[in-house]
Amino acid sequence: MSYSNCHTHTVFCDGKNTPEEMAQAAFATGCTCLGFSVHSPMSTAADWTIAPERLPAYTAEIRRLQQQFRGRLEILHGIELDRNFAHVDPSEFDYIIGAVHQIVKNGHVYDVDYTREMLKDCAEKEFGGDFLALAKHYYDDFAAFVCEVRPTIVAHFDLIEKFNEDQTLFSTNDPAYQKIATAAADRILDECPDILFEVNTGAMYRLGKADPYPMPFMLNHLKRRGAKVIITADAHCTDALSFAFDKAREACERAGLTVFELRRRDGKAEICNAQ
Ligand SMILES: [Zn+2]
Ligand SMILES: [Zn+2]
Repeated sequence: MSYSNCHTHTVFCDGKNTPEEMAQAAFATGCTCLGFSVHSPMSTAADWTIAPERLPAYTAEIRRLQQQFRGRLEILHGIELDRNFAHVDPSEFDYIIGAVHQIVKNGHVYDVDYTREMLKDCAEKEFGGDFLALAKHYYDDFAAFVCEVRPTIVAHFDLIEKFNEDQTLFSTNDPAYQKIATAAADRILDECPDILFEVNTGAMYRLGKADPYPMPFMLNHLKRRGAKVIITADAHCTDALSFAFDKAREACERAGLTVFELRRRDGKAEICNAQ
């Protein structure tokens, strides 16, 4: 089955393969459009991003691959722009994935998707152990960032769920938690009704999680709001390029969501109905 994927990391940040290896594997497995989305340089400490001085080489390599694969595989030059991005002009990219990977509070920086211990530490030290307060900080910050920058795509919206599959950090079914998350989605959709929300299988590949981001309650809410979604792999190696896309499609179908994808038209990214 053919597919497209616009969330792809390479050796330019924390991925394992080169862009050319990713493009070759994508073409060989039926990909029609591959978007590269390097982690943006940050103003905060992070060891999983591209260094600012490497950005021109990244751009040159993706443009070279667009020529090399012309007529066989559409390739897009994108970026996963973090809330704390720095040294980057977002307008230089074909599309933007907007993401929040960190909570910054009282001058301390915590990666929310690094380890379960770091997330717990953040809740205890900065929010008095109150995960709902942590969630409110995270989602409010996410909504403010998206409304300000207006990315093409909202990345893994409930990334703070990454280490909570066993529900021992907080309860995803808690109406207070769901209200915080859906209010942030509402704020984004009020301002940016055409934005794409990712249905992201990255943690299914890397952690063996059963479901993609975001959780079913959020997918149902996105359906109620008439939001658009896009299925992505958040691939950091060739084996992950379309991992669990069948399950992601099923999750979208269960929620009644129509899936969209990015294609390359006249050198730019265009949002289309998925094939
Ligand atoms: Zn990410
Ligand atoms: Zn990513």
